[in-house]
Amino acid sequence: MRRSLRPWREKVAAAARKMAALGLVTGSSGNVSLRVGERILITPSGIPYEELDPRQIAVLEFSELGTPHPAHVTGVPSSEWRMHMAIYRAREDVRAVVHTHSPYATAASFGKALSVVHDEGKLLFGEVVPVSRHAPPGTWALAEAVARALGEGKAVLIARHGAVAVGSTLTEALFLAEKLEEVAQIALLRTNGNPAAPEDAPRE
Ligand code: 13P
Ligand code: ZN
Repeated sequence: MRRSLRPWREKVAAAARKMAALGLVTGSSGNVSLRVGERILITPSGIPYEELDPRQIAVLEFSELGTPHPAHVTGVPSSEWRMHMAIYRAREDVRAVVHTHSPYATAASFGKALSVVHDEGKLLFGEVVPVSRHAPPGTWALAEAVARALGEGKAVLIARHGAVAVGSTLTEALFLAEKLEEVAQIALLRTNGNPAAPEDAPRE
């Protein structure tokens, strides 16, 4: 007998509602997932977070093969389920993925990479947050581009689209998504709105 997924569905729904409450998404944009054993629990497609019921959290069987068999899918998964799946396949350490359209990070996704300019940001993300190459939303091309650009990092920007943060827990991934938005905001303020502007020498 399989363990009930109810507590995990509730955790995913709570994280998604918090993502909206933090202003990292509006309406139904963005998505959240959690790996539980051989399954991925993921927010449903197109449901505004204030209306989200934990029973609507979709479940995918984690498979080494491409698209899960429809019989192995419960609910209507986010249209970005391929991206979440590609990240979990590439990263054994990742248990949670948060995708936002937070405004400063999304603005920074039009550049080649986001330069992290302040000390706390560098401690969390290193010198640079990469930007994936552009691909249409919801496609395997986007999934592969995002997983590749993420590499072994904690976060990545999706070109002309938004941001992704990953973690070993939902709390960590959500914290990093919030911090990534702050990093992008500070970088843009620091460079007067031009993420590509070169940084001058720091003052001692
Ligand atoms: P879903 O509502 O299908 O999760 O799509 C939101 C999104 O951010 C697409 O990139
Ligand atoms: Zn999106």
